[in-house]
Amino acid sequence: MESQQTLAGPIEFSGPGLHTGESVRVRVVPAPPDTGLRFRRVDLDDFEIEAVVQNVARVAYATTLMKQGVLISTVEHLLSSLYIFGVDNALIEIDNLEVPILDGSALEFVEAIARTGLQQQSSLRRYLRVERSLEIQDRDRSIAVYPSDRLQISYTIDFDHPMIGRQSFDFEASPEVFSREVAPARTFGFYREVEDLRKKGLVRGGSLDNAIVLTDQGILNDILRFEDEFVRHKVLDGIGDLALIGKPLLARVVAHKAGHALHTHLVTRILSDPSCYSETTNPPLRSSGGDTDLPRQSQCVSASGS
Ligand SMILES: [Zn+2]
Repeated sequence: MESQQTLAGPIEFSGPGLHTGESVRVRVVPAPPDTGLRFRRVDLDDFEIEAVVQNVARVAYATTLMKQGVLISTVEHLLSSLYIFGVDNALIEIDNLEVPILDGSALEFVEAIARTGLQQQSSLRRYLRVERSLEIQDRDRSIAVYPSDRLQISYTIDFDHPMIGRQSFDFEASPEVFSREVAPARTFGFYREVEDLRKKGLVRGGSLDNAIVLTDQGILNDILRFEDEFVRHKVLDGIGDLALIGKPLLARVVAHKAGHALHTHLVTRILSDPSCYSETTNPPLRSSGGDTDLPRQSQCVSASGS
């Protein structure tokens, strides 16, 4: 059995939102057991929006939550960091509609969480354990989930671009590996799309300080942080979207050319079929190397089509 956790103290961030370009202040504060991760719009009478997939409103270029018309945008990098560090409960106080983009990565988030530390709480943590496989195909994109005793993610992307091409990354959830290998990976976009996106009210806060900007042949930034920074960033995004399942997930997720839409669709599909998962307070077995997975052949009944 493991206890639920919250932050040992508040952590704060500020800066412009990637899409709105507006300056934002965020303060993540400890919260009681069973609160979950919850946004609080301090500029709107403390209106609260739970970080759960039921509140997902938009998945284009960022994940946006909405409840009763109130928005919180670009939640994925912060949620990803809190989730991997095992922060079960926290209130995310924010004074605007978009989480600051900072340097385009989750580096500042993980540094603050690690510096502040975690506080064990009195209630038991409840895991969501995937019991059967579920595969979703959308043309040449796909995402699938399989039983596993721990959270693992295998991600592949394939961009027709000389700096990217085909990249794969395997991640086994741990705060240390996440902080070192995933959190520093920055968001990326194509320079030729910037004008169009700005007309749609997007990427107004975007710059070379907070995104890798791709030209047709290269990048406008000086250097990459990793040769495969692009796929690492997709892992970061993917975890942030998986966090919207609302509980620590025990599963192996395999994504191919996926994005926010497929990530959140997977979460919805898992939750819509109770035969797909169970909830348990038993901590994951940390068996060495051996594969303790449940039978992989059994599929969730809702697993056809998308
Ligand atoms: Zn991202």
